[in-house]
Amino acid sequence: MRTETIPQLRLQGIKGKVIRPNDAEYDAARTVFRGGVDKHPALIVRVADAGDVSRVIALAREAGLELAVRSGAHSSAGHSVTEGGIVLDLSAMKGIEIDVAGRTAWAETGLTAVEVTKALSAHGLAVGFGDTGSVGIGGITLGGGIGLLTRKFGMTIDSLIAADIVTADGELVRTDANEHPDLFWAIRGGGGNFGVATRFKYRLNAVPQVLGWMLIQPATAETIAAFIAEAEKAPDELTTIANVMPCPPMPFVAEEHHGKLVNFAFVVYAGDTASGERALAPIRAITPAITDQIKPISLPEIYPPEEGEYHPLAAGTNMFVDRVDRGVAKTIIDRTEEHMRAASPQMAGAQLRVLGGAMARVPADATAFAHRSSRIMVNLFSIYGAPEEAPAHDAWIAKFGAELQQGDKGAYVNFLDDEGVERVQAAYPGKTWDRLASIKQRYDPGNLFRLNQNIPPGG
Ligand SMILES: Cc1cc2nc3c(=O)[nH]c(=O)nc-3n(C[C@H](O)[C@H](O)[C@H](O)COP(=O)(O)OP(=O)(O)OC[C@H]3O[C@@H](n4cnc5c(N)ncnc54)[C@H](O)[C@@H]3O)c2cc1C
Repeated sequence: MRTETIPQLRLQGIKGKVIRPNDAEYDAARTVFRGGVDKHPALIVRVADAGDVSRVIALAREAGLELAVRSGAHSSAGHSVTEGGIVLDLSAMKGIEIDVAGRTAWAETGLTAVEVTKALSAHGLAVGFGDTGSVGIGGITLGGGIGLLTRKFGMTIDSLIAADIVTADGELVRTDANEHPDLFWAIRGGGGNFGVATRFKYRLNAVPQVLGWMLIQPATAETIAAFIAEAEKAPDELTTIANVMPCPPMPFVAEEHHGKLVNFAFVVYAGDTASGERALAPIRAITPAITDQIKPISLPEIYPPEEGEYHPLAAGTNMFVDRVDRGVAKTIIDRTEEHMRAASPQMAGAQLRVLGGAMARVPADATAFAHRSSRIMVNLFSIYGAPEEAPAHDAWIAKFGAELQQGDKGAYVNFLDDEGVERVQAAYPGKTWDRLASIKQRYDPGNLFRLNQNIPPGG
């Protein structure tokens, strides 16, 4: 499809920026976080408001073009750009209205996690997002949102109280528990299948300061199993993300550890410092730390500055497990070491997130995220240098993932690559899938929003 075939009339009403293949900024505008994604859209529209969103939706529908909807462009599946279609880019929509007394905020979906976290932190307030500041609130919220406040305050969707959505017919609707309640259920985990979210209303949590950040311990089967056991026993205030991987060559880590397997953990205790120190003591007692950077910090500080031009090529898979005992931990260590020797990835390993707490107290059918009772989320990853290396890394991930399976066949949609319909169904087991398909039938019967972890209309 060539740009010239797009009705100019439609574009004339656009208040935002229209970027075409010949424009100087086209290449930068079509670039996404994920490396190896090299797609050439016919048009990129950096929308300014809901009216623009509605116009772009109409344009895509009428021209029969594939539509990529993007907020922070961090889709692991490369869904934030299209070959030959239209990119609806929300990244210029960064308005935020904070009602400090009422403890709510409306945030436009072009904002990133760190931008919202900074704005709220100025008032001692917070919404929990993920572990990376540059992730867009659009994608992370619609898929669920699991981060370092999850055990204390639940998932991002558990703080969502309303949203403005432009549906496939171009209509702007407000959805909450009372207005379009089915749509509100579906967008809390169902991703971008039901419309374009222009802004979200969040309930805000009081988080003046936290105790947390980085802790690196040597990785052995014993230390990993003990870390997970202590993280499971910890109070809800403490959320942890353990990464079993080779130690990066960081200046504040002694050279003897560089390249050796470590538990590179991020922790947040959302409460007062003295209680946090007590909660962290059993984790610190497991083994002497290689580095312990845990300190009282403000929430935005958990998001270190990122390199703008970092676009990793990566293989990965996501799963849930019930336990990481010494046997499982040994498998993780052995497989990672074997892979480092055999395939020389730039980085590889397993990320282990102990779930539970507030996240697990929400009934499984209350939102479209159904994995409330899953205990530990695992992300296996291998980051490599050149596209032709992909098969070796994909094969390792597939074998490793199969070996770690313990029976929970679920998956978290926000960490899926382009893995096929069965894996999307794994994210939405049983009745969740059926209900999502029937809501999709109502709001997007033509499957205009299909460049995503797609739930086809049905029911
Ligand atoms: C480095 C990295 C770290 C991550 N860490 C975490 C983490 O700790 N916790 C976690 O839960 N997830 C995490 N994720 C996963 C992340 O939540 C998803 O990739 C998410 O979809 C990214 O959102 P985005 O807006 O940046 O991406 P985009 O590529 O812009 O959007 C992804 C998809 O979401 C949909 N979408 C986005 N915005 C809108 C909108 N406004 N309206 C309708 N549909 C929309 C579209 O279908 C789009 O294809 C991480 C991802 C990366 C790459």
